[in-house]
Amino acid sequence: MDCIFCKIISGEIPSKKVYEDESVYAFYDINPMAPVHVLIVPKTHIASINELTPENSAVVAHIYEVAAKLAKELGVAESGYRMVSNCGADAGQTVFHLHFHLLGGRPLKVDMC
Ligand code: AMP
Ligand code: ZN
Repeated sequence: MDCIFCKIISGEIPSKKVYEDESVYAFYDINPMAPVHVLIVPKTHIASINELTPENSAVVAHIYEVAAKLAKELGVAESGYRMVSNCGADAGQTVFHLHFHLLGGRPLKVDMC
């Protein structure tokens, strides 16, 4: 499949890995928008939030558990951070493999949109 994040997960495209387990992969965003900017993705190809179903959605809860662990390790658990998943054109989604941006390390804009 021609998916950049599937290629990162398989190692075909290099990345700066932060965490990996049987169902999740996390790596530094190539174009960081904050001092801490990590992408957390399911290893299974799911195009976006729109593709979540009762059969595949458990990984999202696991991604949030991983986010809590990484936030502690990266030193932003107490200062604060934001998890963002863009879905579709109006949200500016550019990679169609479900991913969550973990952003922190400075005060983030309060605007949600
Ligand atoms: P989104 O715009 O929500 O779809 O986010 C896609 C994110 O993937 C952007 O923040 C990009 O900077 C990031 N990105 C694209 N290609 C790579 C790559 N090869 N390694 C790391 N991050 C990437
Ligand atoms: Zn993919």
